[in-house]
Amino acid sequence: MADRYFSEEPLAGQSATLRGNEAHHLLHVMRAKVGTEIIVFDGRGGEWWSEVTQLGRTEVEVVLKQHRQIERELAAEFTLAVALPKGDRQRWLVEKAVEMGVTRIVPLTTARSTVSTAEAPAKLARYVIEASKQCGRNRLMEIAKPQAWDEIVKEGLEANKFVAHPGGLAVGEIRRNEQAATVLAVGPEGGLTDEEIQLAGQQGWQIVGLGERILRIETAALALLARLTVG
Ligand code: SAH
Repeated sequence: MADRYFSEEPLAGQSATLRGNEAHHLLHVMRAKVGTEIIVFDGRGGEWWSEVTQLGRTEVEVVLKQHRQIERELAAEFTLAVALPKGDRQRWLVEKAVEMGVTRIVPLTTARSTVSTAEAPAKLARYVIEASKQCGRNRLMEIAKPQAWDEIVKEGLEANKFVAHPGGLAVGEIRRNEQAATVLAVGPEGGLTDEEIQLAGQQGWQIVGLGERILRIETAALALLARLTVG
């Protein structure tokens, strides 16, 4: 696969201008020349086979040669509602969620995690773009606004609603419609409270256990994502 670059501006017409990190990478890391072939995507679906036509000091002009309607999305929408861990672990989780095909992350606030620890939106957006470049996704994972557990637990309109909680059903025992949208919730380090889990049960969520050990937030999320999205 040719190197992939992201365009902040929606792609349309014959040409595009790459700026910022993308131009910097092409100019100073890849040392692109006029004629270098690359793939450009704008996160709204599909990708463009392109060629560098002009090298500026901070910008790179490309001609959009051929549009390919390539999608690398899951069969149905997948929402990960998660009490975000901090720092590097947050970055790791966002990156892996993009790789696994998650449609959107909803930062979750719960009884034991009232403060939202989401990093600055621009930083999170950059993680999403970098992961999408690497894994070939042509649609950007959304980072939605934070939501409280009490809200999402009632609103979750998806057909498949799962919440990870120690002692829940084994993954092999859950009911699931693979063609329908899914929401997966993972709680904070302190865990979800008995009341929060009870509420989920009343609202038709299935409570899923992941074995005898207590996993970190990002481990629990990735373990379930792997079970639910691959294969
Ligand atoms: N302190 C809590 C665990 C919190 S771990 C306790 O002792 O119960 C953070 C989150 O990861 C949990 O809210 C849950 O959503 C998920 N998780 C961690 N280990 C899990 C397991 N064995 N089974 C299911 N979910 C788990």
